[in-house]
Amino acid sequence: MKIRLINENGLRVDGRRPDEMRRMRMEVGVLEKTDGSAYVELGGTRIYAGVIGPREVHPKHLELPDKGVINCRYHMASFSVDERKPLGMTRREIELSKVIREALETVVFLEEFPRMMIDIFVEVIQADGGTRTAGITAASLALADAGIPMADMIAAIAVGKVDGVLVLDINEEEDKYGEADMPVAIAPHLNSIVLLQLNGRMTPEEVDKGLEMAQKAVQKIHQMQIEALKRKYRVEPEGLET
Ligand code: ADP
Repeated sequence: MKIRLINENGLRVDGRRPDEMRRMRMEVGVLEKTDGSAYVELGGTRIYAGVIGPREVHPKHLELPDKGVINCRYHMASFSVDERKPLGMTRREIELSKVIREALETVVFLEEFPRMMIDIFVEVIQADGGTRTAGITAASLALADAGIPMADMIAAIAVGKVDGVLVLDINEEEDKYGEADMPVAIAPHLNSIVLLQLNGRMTPEEVDKGLEMAQKAVQKIHQMQIEALKRKYRVEPEGLET
């Protein structure tokens, strides 16, 4: 039986309009034993990111004389999905670790850290679609919280196509039964796309429209990242009793 993903009122399985994002919440400085950290919640997707470093490279042979290296691990908790995920790193997690690292490498000033290493851990606690994009948003925020110099703070979101309609921020059900999933990560100040993938089928016109939707959403997510950083780092003026 075909599952209907858009109802007669044009609304999605969770009641959203096509261009509506799920509720997003974020916070920085949530983990005490890291140099920088962030929590990002996007609907049912919940992710922690932790950054350690810059520190000396171990093992030594991985160090580069002229720039730093990023080590990134995207991992899903076994209880984060309906079917228990096998323990250890699956092929998908190894691939996503690489994809996330390559997106972040485009903005981090690695030449400022020769012979050093920055560890980025992305832990998916609960998955409901869009974990790679929410993971990038969280990792970028954790890097900023760690004080790592970057040319921009990346934000990301997935666009999809369900029942022939382009939709913003697809959830797991839409990803599973829809026609396409297009995760996008953007460095807004650099006006650059730093990750673009497409699973499924879209026309070139739909890709253009999808990119436009993603770009708009990224502006909002980027603003939320700045607000989250300000909440942690804002210094209240002295002498003002409340
Ligand atoms: P993303 O999370 O970036 O959308 P995918 O498209 O690979 O990445 O996965 C879509 C969704 O499918 C995930 O967010 C998660 O909800 C679900 N999923 C991924 N891996 C598994 C798994 N091993 N078992 C069950 N569900 C999974």
